[in-house]
Amino acid sequence: TYTLGPKIANWDTERKDWLRSNPDFPSLVNGKPRVLLVTGSPPKPCDNPIGDHYLLKAIKNKIDYCRLHGIEIVYNLAHLDKELAGYWAKLPLIRRLMLSHPEVEWIWWMDSDALFTDMVFEIPLSKYASHNLVIHGYPDLLFDQKSWIALNTGSFLFRNCQWPAFEADDQSALIYLLLSQKDQWMEKVYVENSYYLHGYWAGLVDRYEEMIEKYHPGLGDERWPFVTHFVGCKPCGSYGDYPVERCLSSMERAFNFADNQVLKLYGFRHRGLLSPKIKRIRNETAAPLEFVDQYDIRRHPVQGG
Ligand code: UDP
Ligand code: MN
Repeated sequence: TYTLGPKIANWDTERKDWLRSNPDFPSLVNGKPRVLLVTGSPPKPCDNPIGDHYLLKAIKNKIDYCRLHGIEIVYNLAHLDKELAGYWAKLPLIRRLMLSHPEVEWIWWMDSDALFTDMVFEIPLSKYASHNLVIHGYPDLLFDQKSWIALNTGSFLFRNCQWPAFEADDQSALIYLLLSQKDQWMEKVYVENSYYLHGYWAGLVDRYEEMIEKYHPGLGDERWPFVTHFVGCKPCGSYGDYPVERCLSSMERAFNFADNQVLKLYGFRHRGLLSPKIKRIRNETAAPLEFVDQYDIRRHPVQGG
């Protein structure tokens, strides 16, 4: 049987002891659990160079969100385990990061092709106090229809705690585990759909103008999606399920939609959702501190739009 590493039997106790003897590395910072966002891309250049440009935009988008919300980032470009390359590379990576960063409470995996599109929304972590895995999905699809689209692993949260799955074999796909051992797992898994921890791009990217007109950042749901995930696009690879042009223009729109929320603080916005060019939205002032509070989206999220 393939395993991800030696069995660690009492991680929760060991971690608790470690936290107690390392008060300089608290798992709570300003009352909030410490979160590490993890993403990555293949070790080699994309088949199509434009893919590398979109990987750059995607990491810029994540850096912006994480800076605004005090979240640390890891970008992985390595295949940590040659038996688990590509898609499965997330698992050894997450395990490695949990063990090497005992101070981190939640590891948040986010695919490279998922963009933050609500720069204000914050994950309601206190809601998950008694859960260890938070994943976007629909419980009825999962349990009644046993559908493989019931869950999406493009953006999910993993608590740094004892996870028997880490010693499981390579057949232990998440859905299989959840379905076959429902009683053992579901108590600790929160299947979230009250906001878009993952939002499927095709239903969202054409509605950004409508959202701008009607709503504002901070909602995170279908009114202003937290994450827009380009499932099936593969801009870095060769074989996607959608035409490359449609994927790239949609990614451009999602990026600029998000970037406008960031640029607002600095007094700029994109000329249009398809334009990398920006324009000024207010004049320079000799008294910047009088206005800084007004434009910082972190301070009054609901007026942020
Ligand atoms: N990935 C990685 N290294 C690789 C291949 C993939 O880190 O060599 C990551 C990358 O972040 C990518 C994710 O794995 O976004 C999942 O793949 P993809 O998004 O293509 O799958 P989909 O969401 O379309 O099912
Ligand atoms: Mn993806």
